Amino acid sequence: MPPKKNAKKTPSLKTKQKALLKTSRPVVSKKVVSTTKIKDEDKESHKNTPYATLRGMKDVFGKEGRMFQRVYRVSESVARAYGFSYVETPIVEQTSLFVRSIGKGTDVVDKEMYTFDDKDGSKVCLRPEGTAPIARMYINQGMHTMPQPVKMWSWGSMFRHDRPQAGRYRMFHQFSCETLGEHSPVVDAELISVAYNTLRDLGIEASVRINSIGTPEDRENYLVELVGYLKSKRSYLSEESKKRLQKNPLRILDSKDEQDRAVIEDAPQIVDWLSEPSKKFFMSVLEYLDEVEIPYVLTPTLVRGLDYYTDTVFEFVEEGVPETQQGSLGGGGRYNGLVAQLGGQSTPAAGFSLGVERILLALKRKEEEARKNGTFVDTAEKQQVFFAQLGEQARKRALLLIERLRRAGIVVSHNLAKSSIKAQLELAHKVGATYTLILGQKEVQDGTIITRNMESGIQEIVDQKKIETVVKKLLGI
Ligand code: AMP
Repeated sequence: MPPKKNAKKTPSLKTKQKALLKTSRPVVSKKVVSTTKIKDEDKESHKNTPYATLRGMKDVFGKEGRMFQRVYRVSESVARAYGFSYVETPIVEQTSLFVRSIGKGTDVVDKEMYTFDDKDGSKVCLRPEGTAPIARMYINQGMHTMPQPVKMWSWGSMFRHDRPQAGRYRMFHQFSCETLGEHSPVVDAELISVAYNTLRDLGIEASVRINSIGTPEDRENYLVELVGYLKSKRSYLSEESKKRLQKNPLRILDSKDEQDRAVIEDAPQIVDWLSEPSKKFFMSVLEYLDEVEIPYVLTPTLVRGLDYYTDTVFEFVEEGVPETQQGSLGGGGRYNGLVAQLGGQSTPAAGFSLGVERILLALKRKEEEARKNGTFVDTAEKQQVFFAQLGEQARKRALLLIERLRRAGIVVSHNLAKSSIKAQLELAHKVGATYTLILGQKEVQDGTIITRNMESGIQEIVDQKKIETVVKKLLGI
C-alpha cells in the first residue's frame, strides 16, 4: 500500500537520539565526592590569591616550549644514531640510593635533596640526579646478562633544593647517556662525542674541560698531599672552603670563589698522583678525542662533585660565558665503582648529563646576539597550511579532511571554533601559512575545496578527492 499523503514518517534512530538529547536532563554521576575538606584547605592556604609556581620551578610554554621540544628531538636523534636505547626510571626513589652513591659531604646529599617520609614511614626522595637510578636499574633488571656494553639514554626532571638563580632551578631537566659494562677509553670518548655533537647540532659552541681523578686509591694518596697543602693555606681560604676542608676537601678545587683562586692555582695536581693504568687510560681518551677533532682543555682542578666518579671526568662549558653565569652545560665521567657500591657485581661504566635549562639559556643568548647582529634566522616551525571553514556543514567535513591530510604527512593548523572567514584568514597570516584551504557550504555540496595562495591572494577550486596530492604539489613535497 502506498503511504498516505501527509502521513507522519516514523522518525529515524538518529532523529530520535537527537530529540532525546534535547529533552533529557543532565546526567548526574551517582558517586558524589565531598568537596568540603578540599574547600576548607583551599581557603586556609590561599585566601583567593592566585596560585604561583613553587620557588625555583617554572612553567614551560610558547616559544620556550618549542625550544624545549627541539632540544629533546636533537638529543634523541644523536643518542639513537650512536646506538643508545631509551630508558626511564621513576622520579621517586629510596633516599639511601643517593646517600650511598653520591656520598655524604656533598651539597646534593647534605643540603639539596627533596626527601620525605612515604606513607609506610620509609624515606624516599625526588631524584636529584639520574646516574644512581640507572645503576640501580642495571642491577634490578639483571642487565649484566644482556650483551655488554648496555648503552642507555634518558630524559627527565631532576630536583635539587638549591638557591634559585638564573639557570639554577629546583626542578630542571637532564638529557643523559650512560654506557655500562665496558672499560675502554673509546667509551669515554664516544660519550664526550655524543654530548659535544648534540650541543653542536643545536648551534652551541662548547668547550670540553677534562681531567682524570684516577682510582679511589690514587685519590686517597693524593688527598693526603692536598689536605696538607690546604691546611697550610687555611687562613687564605673562603669560609665555605674552610668548612669543606673537613667534609670534602676535593671539592675546594671546584670553588668559584675568587678568594680561593690563588690557593687552588698552586695546589698539587691529581694527574701527578695517577697510577700507571689510570694515566695510560687517560692518555688514550685524549688520543681518541684528537682523532675525532673534539677540542678539549686539560683542567687539573676539575674533580666533579660526586663521590662515585673514577678516572675520566669532563664538563661542557659554553664558549665565552663565565662559569659564574651558569656556563656549565653539563658534565660526566667514569664511575667504575658505582654498580658494585649499590650491591651489583663490579661493572665498569661511564656517562654524561646535559642540563636542558642551561641549553635553553644558551640558545636564548645566541638568539639575542644574532638579532643584534642582524643575522637572526627564524627557525620556528611554520605551519604552512591553514584550514578555514565556513558554515556548520563545512565544519563537520573539516575534521575528516584534516585527518586525511595528516595521514598524508601534511600538518595543517586551524581553529574550527571560529566562524568568520576574515578572522580565520588573519590567523592564517599570523601562523605564517603559505596556503589556506577554504571549505564553504557550496564546496561541501560540490565535493570541492578552495586553495588560496596567501601571498598573491590567487584562489583555485580543486576536487576534494585530490586534496592530498594538490597540497603536496603546492608545498613542493
Ligand atoms: P650535575 O648532575 O651536577 O653534574 O649537573 C649536570 C648539569 O645539569 C649541569 O652542568 C647543569 O647544566 C645542570 N644542572 C645541575 N643543577 C642544576 C640546577 N639546579 N638547575 C638547572 N640546571 C642544573
